[in-house]
Amino acid sequence: MIIVLKEHPDQKQLDNLVSWLESMDLSIQFSKGEHTTIMGLIGDTTVVDTDLLNALDIVEGVRRIQEPYKKANRKFHPDDTVVHIAEDIDIGGGHFQIIAGPCSVESEEQVTAIAEAIKATGTKLYRGGAFKPRTSPYSFQGLRTTGIRMLEKAKEATGLPIVTEIMDISHLDLFENVDVIQVGARNMQNFELLKELGHQPKPVLLKRGLSSTLKEWLMSAEYVMAGGNDKIILCERGIRTFETATRNTLDLSAVPMLKKKTHLPVIVDPSHATGIAALVEPMALAATACGADGLMIEVHNNPEKALCDGAQSLRPEQFARLVEEVNALRPFAYGQQAGV
Ligand code: PEP
Ligand code: MN
Repeated sequence: MIIVLKEHPDQKQLDNLVSWLESMDLSIQFSKGEHTTIMGLIGDTTVVDTDLLNALDIVEGVRRIQEPYKKANRKFHPDDTVVHIAEDIDIGGGHFQIIAGPCSVESEEQVTAIAEAIKATGTKLYRGGAFKPRTSPYSFQGLRTTGIRMLEKAKEATGLPIVTEIMDISHLDLFENVDVIQVGARNMQNFELLKELGHQPKPVLLKRGLSSTLKEWLMSAEYVMAGGNDKIILCERGIRTFETATRNTLDLSAVPMLKKKTHLPVIVDPSHATGIAALVEPMALAATACGADGLMIEVHNNPEKALCDGAQSLRPEQFARLVEEVNALRPFAYGQQAGV
């Protein structure tokens, strides 16, 4: 349930309202906009008499929320969430970021050379997998702890904040110098992992599950938020369909649809969505055009030799061109014009 307050509510009446609601075991989340303040109520709201609330001087209106996700719901929090990652690096609410780097960390030279190439394009966030979720136990599993250390070195060398995937909460201590913790598609519904990530302060990049609906995805975001961490970036990375020409099917309508449903930033990964390097740039442009808050792109300095996902990895020069094209398109993207 949400309570919309009138502009400049009397503080004493507001305090009384808060204590009354708290006495019914409800927790309250305030969202202060330019003109209105919204109180989001979480808990068993069936005990609340909405007529009584509506009759209060300070209350503009009361609405029950049907969706099972509350904190992630835009009705609860009408303004876009801006996730702050590092100085001058934000995502959401008009702040657009590209996250780029190799699928996997392979060696110190590889990870640092790619980081330097990424930085030269003006891109501010570096990705690389140290713990890799592979379909086969016989495939390269990532350099794990050593991989994280190599990412840290690349960060030291370039100053780029790093994004990398967590697969098990017991590894959390290793992520001390990681700036954004990624939850991969295969772990989107690992609820115990999500709960624990809700209890730590770093931003979480939550990828969409291979066959997950938007509602299931937002419920996963809700798990993290319920623990107290609202720094979540959603990442559309393609879903399973009957089509086999591409690795997955990029569901771009998810972007404007999510924008209606949630205030959280939404980025798009056209690399895992298509699995084909030649399709990455067109789909990155399409994602930008439909209002995504950012992109995640796999880049490798030697895709033929990549230990993972070489076929979908761009070479640094291809990536540099993508960045230019995306930057040129940005001012015309959906949502950039006033009134949208
Ligand atoms: C990745 O980003 O490295 C990855 C494994 O992606 P996904 O979880 O979307 O498959
Ligand atoms: Mn990959």
